[in-house]
Amino acid sequence: MTTLGTPRLMAAWQRQLNRISAQLDKALPWGSGRRSLWAALISLVLAVLATLVWLAGRYEASQVQAELERDTADAVSDLRSSLSRQVQALQALQSGHFASATWQPEALALLRDNRDWLRVEWRDKTWQLQAFADSPLRAPAFERISRNEVLNEASQACQRARRLNGPAYSSTYFLPQSDGLGIEVMELCLPVTQNGEWVGSTVVTYSLQELLTERLGRTFGRKNELSFVEPDGTRLAIAGAQRRERRVFTSQQLVDLPGNTLLLRMDGRRGEPDLFPNVLTALVTGMSIALITVMVLLTKDARRRLKAERDLADALAFRKAMEDSLVTGLRARDLQGRITYVNPAFCQMVGWEAEALIGQNAPMPYWPPEMVDEYQQRQAIRMAGNASPREGFESVFMRQDGTRFPVLIIEAPLISVQGEQTGWMGAVIDISEQRRIEELSRASQDRLQATARLATVGEMASLLSHELNQPLAAIASYANGSLNLLKDPQAEPQTLDDVHMALRRIAEQAERAGRVINSVHDFVRRRDQAREAVQPQALLDAIAPLVNLQARKLQVRVHMRVDARLPAVWCDRTMVEQVLLNLARNGMQAMDSPHCRDRVLVLQVQLAAPGQEHAGVAFSVTDLGAGIAPDVAAQLFNPFFTTKPEGMGLGLSLCRTVVEQHGGQLEFAPHKPVGTVFRFTLPAAGSQTTHTA
Ligand code: ADP
Repeated sequence: MTTLGTPRLMAAWQRQLNRISAQLDKALPWGSGRRSLWAALISLVLAVLATLVWLAGRYEASQVQAELERDTADAVSDLRSSLSRQVQALQALQSGHFASATWQPEALALLRDNRDWLRVEWRDKTWQLQAFADSPLRAPAFERISRNEVLNEASQACQRARRLNGPAYSSTYFLPQSDGLGIEVMELCLPVTQNGEWVGSTVVTYSLQELLTERLGRTFGRKNELSFVEPDGTRLAIAGAQRRERRVFTSQQLVDLPGNTLLLRMDGRRGEPDLFPNVLTALVTGMSIALITVMVLLTKDARRRLKAERDLADALAFRKAMEDSLVTGLRARDLQGRITYVNPAFCQMVGWEAEALIGQNAPMPYWPPEMVDEYQQRQAIRMAGNASPREGFESVFMRQDGTRFPVLIIEAPLISVQGEQTGWMGAVIDISEQRRIEELSRASQDRLQATARLATVGEMASLLSHELNQPLAAIASYANGSLNLLKDPQAEPQTLDDVHMALRRIAEQAERAGRVINSVHDFVRRRDQAREAVQPQALLDAIAPLVNLQARKLQVRVHMRVDARLPAVWCDRTMVEQVLLNLARNGMQAMDSPHCRDRVLVLQVQLAAPGQEHAGVAFSVTDLGAGIAPDVAAQLFNPFFTTKPEGMGLGLSLCRTVVEQHGGQLEFAPHKPVGTVFRFTLPAAGSQTTHTA
């Protein structure tokens, strides 16, 4: 469709569609460009979630590490307090009991109490051994190697003790045992003073192994592996659980002793952190699942939206195609009467571009100037809501070139989604073509009618002469009869009566001929026929003389059977008489053959349906002639079809027209054993419907 305004409008539409499709592409997450963006987003979210889980694990590990550090610190402090308690016990041992007799049992008691002690010695100032006691709980430690060979560490500790005037510990050293193994030991030297004067030293040999087991093993050894280690990592003694877990947490702390520093190491072995190691991780995981679920839902939602948008775009394109293909002009106006929309068909109709029309208010550019006042009033009425919606009205619009053209406008209220009226939508149909066709058709109709009337006049003229033959023949025979009677000079008075009667008949037949002419004249003029209620008997009575006339000539017996108590029929009397006459004449002529010996014509009138007066009255004309051959039957009612040399072939055609004008149907059927029966029905007076000729 091309219009002045259409190219620009189309371009605007195209731009709008392009914009929509571009927006759709942007919103399209599965589009080539968007796909990677979504992939990046998903991997980012996954990375964040993984980091969160990892951090939660880390946090848990750091918690475990901190606990281990605390345990180690506790262990160190426990160890120190144990050692200082032991120092106090030693001080009790040496306070005043220098007699070796009492020293020995007390030392043994101490050795029993302290399983980590291997041996207690009492040495005098000159480093001479005054007394000693080995632990009764185990084999003597200095069996394989004599004590004197390994006194070096002890003497160094004692020198330090003297300097410090307090307990001092030696470095650790390895002491081979008689069972082939060895133990790591450490010496404690406590100076013995008497009256403020140094008199000797008490030396205790510690087993580092037992020290760990006794002092820390019970408290810390269940969960951890305890060990004294050297700075290079060499283990001097080990105690506590040695679990085979993969994850090891280690904590080392120095045990600062006078004269020696031990390095206590605690190895905490823990299993792999669980997938949900603690509430935090569970929380993070739960949130992650929730996040992923939300993302999945969002994606689904985005897909649904996308589909909806595509459908919308389809619907929009469909609407546009529809609007473009419409030949009906569409024009929307807001409540103030301003044009808000016009379709291409409207633009084409009025010859203005859409841009020039949109936003316009009354008077519109397509209103003929001479109609502006009237249109403004009409618009005011419509805007006031007084016009009935969807009722079409005709109007005249003006094209841009000034030509006027008629239009049909159908307006309906524009209802928004919220159900409020936002304006009016008008469908405008250019009816100038329709008007032209109507004009043409009216003219040709008139011409056709005139032609038809002429044709009918021709038909009627022939018919007239045909039908007038009968009354004229009757008149002629009555006139001849009368003349013959009058010829006789001795005519009796009876003869004069006969002449009177013949003259009356002549007058009747002349009147009848006049009625025929009038009736046909009316028919030609196509005015309503004069209908009246007529008794069926009267109809038969009227045609009886003519029928009998012909019957006598053709030696036919005529039977007229009219049922009693028949209702009157509503008909054009003259026309129906003609029908009956025609049928009777045809029937009699059909029997006019040497082969037909039984010449009987039956004219019968009865109710169309027994007992139902309103169904009408049925007339039938039955002859015992040769019947109607099928090829004749096919064209029986065609005008000018006849099988008789002198026939005109108009009788049955007219009969049918008349019967049909009376709302009935003319039918014929073979009569058994020979002959034909013609039937038709007329409406009973009072139940008739009006038929126009
Ligand atoms: P017309 O009587 O002038 O021939 P009609 O229209 O009355 O014209 O009849 C047409 C033809 O139909 C007749 O020529 C005749 O052959 C046939 N026809 C009409 N009525 C009968 C009848 N009762 N029996 C046999 N043929 C008939």
